[in-house]
Amino acid sequence: MPTDGVCAPIAELRDRALDRCSRWFPCLADPARRSSLVLKVALVALHLVYAGILFSFDEDLIENTRRQPWYIALYLLLFVAALIQYFVTAGSSPGYVLDAMKAYNEANSLFIRSPTASKHPASSKNGSLTVTVDINQSGRNSLGSSSWSKMVMEFYPLGTSIRTMTCSYCNIEQPPRAKHCHDCDKCVLQFDHHCVWLGTCIGQGNHCRFWWYIFEETALCLWTGILYITYLKTSISGAWEHCPT
Ligand SMILES: [Zn+2]
Ligand SMILES: [Zn+2]
Repeated sequence: MPTDGVCAPIAELRDRALDRCSRWFPCLADPARRSSLVLKVALVALHLVYAGILFSFDEDLIENTRRQPWYIALYLLLFVAALIQYFVTAGSSPGYVLDAMKAYNEANSLFIRSPTASKHPASSKNGSLTVTVDINQSGRNSLGSSSWSKMVMEFYPLGTSIRTMTCSYCNIEQPPRAKHCHDCDKCVLQFDHHCVWLGTCIGQGNHCRFWWYIFEETALCLWTGILYITYLKTSISGAWEHCPT
């Protein structure tokens, strides 16, 4: 009988070999083992295969396309629109806190340079952050490097420690509902989630685009599902009719 002392090196070798093998397999949960480009190609291929099977085998659908081209034209329009929306959403910025901070500081520097220009302070609408520069209005925040911190503090109840609102990774103050994304390694305004299929975060900047993508994708899946059910129904009833009694 092998003792633990003898088995331990074998188990270690096995674990090492398994670990090496697992590194070659893609994993959606592990950022190091997934490629944003491969996922995009896989998603487009999935769409093409899903719809392609139908158009290759469903003779009734091909016949209907000749008789009612507008019906399939609408389907293809939705198909293309969903893919375009996918790439538009994937390429959009979710609204990074760092970018908002830079824009806010630039607005402040404009105010310093021009005595006629004044800064309209950031406003909160459902926790969102808007930075605008108005002319001939008096700003109420003090200017300088800490102006962002002061502006962010206005969103929190009095007495809140600056440490609780500072991201320990980016070392910048987060407005409410902002969160650090470990996949992007950035803080995101109104963080919703990190979408691995899109390869980006969903936040204040692209939430609307993401909603439209989900809407178009759901409509496309339902429509394709209905076409598949119709095809299967026709095939099964045709098979029953040709079945010898
Ligand atoms: Zn951060
Ligand atoms: Zn992210």
